[in-house]
Amino acid sequence: MPELPEVETVRRRLLTCLPGLVVRDVVVNDATVSAQSETELRALLAGRRVVGLRRRGKYLIVDLGAVERPRAAASGLGAGPTTTVIHLRMTGQLLFRPGPADRPPRFVWRLDPQTDLAFQDVRRFGRLWAFDPAAEEEFFARMGPEPFGDAFSVAYLRRALEGRSAPLKSFLLDQRRIAGVGNIYADETLFRARLHPLRAAGSVGPREAQRLHAALLETLQAGIDHEGSSIESFVDPAGQRGSFQEILSVYQRTGEPCRICAATVRRLEVGGRGTHYCPSCQPRRGGMSRGSRRLRGSPVPPRGGKPPDGAPPRG
Ligand SMILES: [Zn+2]
Repeated sequence: MPELPEVETVRRRLLTCLPGLVVRDVVVNDATVSAQSETELRALLAGRRVVGLRRRGKYLIVDLGAVERPRAAASGLGAGPTTTVIHLRMTGQLLFRPGPADRPPRFVWRLDPQTDLAFQDVRRFGRLWAFDPAAEEEFFARMGPEPFGDAFSVAYLRRALEGRSAPLKSFLLDQRRIAGVGNIYADETLFRARLHPLRAAGSVGPREAQRLHAALLETLQAGIDHEGSSIESFVDPAGQRGSFQEILSVYQRTGEPCRICAATVRRLEVGGRGTHYCPSCQPRRGGMSRGSRRLRGSPVPPRGGKPPDGAPPRG
């Protein structure tokens, strides 16, 4: 599933070709991709030039300028700038001039000069939102700080960990605490920090918190440097695969020898998510999560249930 490094890779690729192009039309082939209708999306996107590409956590943000020929916008929805947000979720791919596929893309932006940006998404969990830029703050209100932003300091991390009984693995996946981390980079981060995934977040000491902070930034940066992990379906907008999967330490390496100590990499379930770790490099220490015994048996449903539509989900 695309996490921060994969979405950042997509953003960087799009940055070389998307800004300056004008959205001529929007075609929605799968209405479940957005809570907004094709007509609404067309009114909010068409006639607008791409002026920026940003990322927030695992979300890609495409900034569109105001309609350049306002008489074309007779929709009553206005002709001002639009913020669009795309979440790739499990299998979403944004592709320029896509090749033949089993299914039509879930949506297509027809761009001027003549090109298409198509959203292919086999599992169909990806989402598209479009709104007035003034609504952005509220849209991301529940999301934690960006790992590479100033707000994500060691001091912030220590405060966020404090008093929490949740296992570290679940803590890292919680988008309200830190934006952008998913299963792959959580497992790799904990390995690099030499912390057991079931350690209670609140039991992490000052030195360990510092190690965790550094490990998270190093792991995410390595993911970006390798243009993401192509474990399942991730490709960038030109259809290129990333290479981070070639240097994974523990993720999906169950039964294989640890690259550091040669102990056998193990797998357990934490909060219903497959979790990979080295029992020797990441030993059990005091302060294991109380949830560990329960969680190790059968998968449990994710906490908190389904987020309301329009607000970023946890993933
Ligand atoms: Zn090891």
